[in-house]
This record gives sequence, structure tokens and C-alpha cells, in this order.
Amino acid sequence: ATKGQIIKGKPVADQISETLIKEVNELVKEGINPKLAILRVGANGSDLAYERGALKRCESTGIQTQVVELPEDVTQEEYVKTLKGLNEDTNINGILCFRPLPKQLDEEAIKYIIAPEKDVDSFSPINSAKVMEGDKTGFPPCTPTAVVEILKHYNVALSGSKVAVLGRSMVVGKPAAMLLLNENATVTICHSRTKDLAKVTSEADVLVAAVGRAKMVKEDFVKEGAVVIDVGINVDEEGKLCGDVDTDAVLDKVSMITPVPAGVGSVTTSILAKHVVKACKLQNNK
Ligand code: NDP
Repeated sequence: ATKGQIIKGKPVADQISETLIKEVNELVKEGINPKLAILRVGANGSDLAYERGALKRCESTGIQTQVVELPEDVTQEEYVKTLKGLNEDTNINGILCFRPLPKQLDEEAIKYIIAPEKDVDSFSPINSAKVMEGDKTGFPPCTPTAVVEILKHYNVALSGSKVAVLGRSMVVGKPAAMLLLNENATVTICHSRTKDLAKVTSEADVLVAAVGRAKMVKEDFVKEGAVVIDVGINVDEEGKLCGDVDTDAVLDKVSMITPVPAGVGSVTTSILAKHVVKACKLQNNK
């Protein structure tokens, strides 16, 4: 068998950036400056790592940024006041709230407070609903959107294809399935209760793995010639970053596979930036 092709995220991210730079330039010429606000509680490592990537991406495309850090023990009242302030600030077009929120905060209440038109990473139920409806004016979550962008960039046929999504979280699996359905794929959603998991996933032309289990997807999970998108970010026995797919084990069988790191993760911040520009244009009736 021929070895599968490792498809990286960077070319996809670069292409999105190139378009964004032009769009931002046009807006700036008209005196409009797209701006993202990041609302973070405390300073955990994964939030900070994502924030660094997001700030770098915004900077390189001309999008302005503002980071608001609240203390770990912030009260509901204080958090809500800060979020409402960002909602009302007309200089800010997009808001990213890091989640999960600490226990003392009521996430179920807060998700209704973020302004849907500024909610660039699908925190608001309005944006979740728009994903269901296939309403393109909304903001689907960045990671599953990155999955679809990668598939399109590498000319993977989706219409009519069998796609299996492994995982059903609100952040990745479920919206990924909806976005792929909107691309006319025939989608099967698998999860921890799925029987004969490997049999189900091995029937798919495209497999999206978002389970959070290091190297769980083995050779028997994939169809010969399948395209595999590995969303997982895990740490293996040796302490190295790895995906949900055992890449070495499936490489000879698949046609294309995204690496971890340098795969889906590297496209996510470009989608975030793209959403900020989209939000800015919509807010300015463009
Ligand atoms: P969750 O833990 O919220 O969801 C995991 C899903 O996988 C659940 O639906 C669960 O099923 C299913 N699952 C877990 N174990 C098994 C199993 N043994 N067999 C079948 N299904 C299983 O994770 P997330 O969706 O938030 O994230 C998934 C992965 O993606 C993680 O590794 C995370 O780090 C990564 N990630 C990557 C991002 C990126 O930018 N690249 C961004 C966000 C996440 P059930 O519902 O039945 O419990």
C-alpha cells in the first residue's frame, strides 16, 4: 500500500490569513478597525497557550485585540458586568470567553448574556441554533469549522460521502456533525455507547476523531483510502503531544491524515480571526 499523505494545517491557515489581511485593509481604509476582546478567568496554561496563538494571528492580520483577565475567585456579578461592558463597547466586534468557567460562575446563565452578534466561538445558544439551521449569519465553534475548512482546502469530497464523527461534545463532535451535514455528507455520530465502534468508523470515507483518548483510533477503525482528521490533543506515555489517532498504525491504510500538533489546532485561530472580521462587517452593514 502507498503511504498516506500527512496534511498540515499551516497551508490552510496561511490561505485564510491572506484573504483576511486584504479584508482588514479595506475596512481600515474606511476607518473601521476590527477588534477582538478575550475574556479570561485566572491564568491556566492551556488558555494562555491558545491566547498567545490567537493574539499572534490577530496581530498578523491587522485585527486589534484586548485581553481582560479576571481573578480566579471572580463573582458572578463581576463577570456579568464585565461581559456586558464588552457587549456594549462599540469598538469591540468579537468576544471570546474562555471556558469552562470556574465553579462559582453559572455558565448556563452567562451563555445567554454574551451578545450573539459578537460571539465568535459559539458560546451563545443562538449560535448553536444557527449551526442546526444551517444559517450562515451565525458563528459556529472555531474547531469544527477548522475541520471543514481543512477538508475543503484539500479537495476532499463531502457531498454524498460517508462521514463518521467520533465524539459528541458541544464544542467539537456535535457541531462538526452538523457542519458536515450542511455540506451534504451522510454523517454518523459515534460516542462511548456506540456498539462495534471500529466497524462503524471503518465504513466512513472521512473520519473525524474528537474523543480525547491518546492514539485510540487504530488500523481496524479506518477504511482503506479514508481521509482522517485528528482533532484530539493528548499526551502519550512518553509525555509527548499526540492525537486521538495512532498515526503510525493507520498511515499505510489512509489516503490523508492531519498531524498532531500542526494539524487542526493551527487552523483554529485563523477561523477565530475570520469570525471577528465577519462580525465586524455584519455590525457595519457590509
Ligand atoms: P469531550 O471529553 O467533551 O468529549 C469526548 C467525546 O468522545 C464524548 O462525546 C465521548 O462520548 C466520546 N468518547 C470518549 N471516550 C470514548 C470511547 N472510548 N469510545 C467512543 N467515544 C468516546 O472532549 P472534546 O470534544 O472537548 O475534545 C475532544 C478532543 O479534542 C480532546 O482531545 C481535546 O483536547 C481536543 N480539542 C482540540 C481542539 C483543537 O483546536 N484542535 C479544540 C478543542 C478540543 P460520550 O458523549 O458518550 O461521553
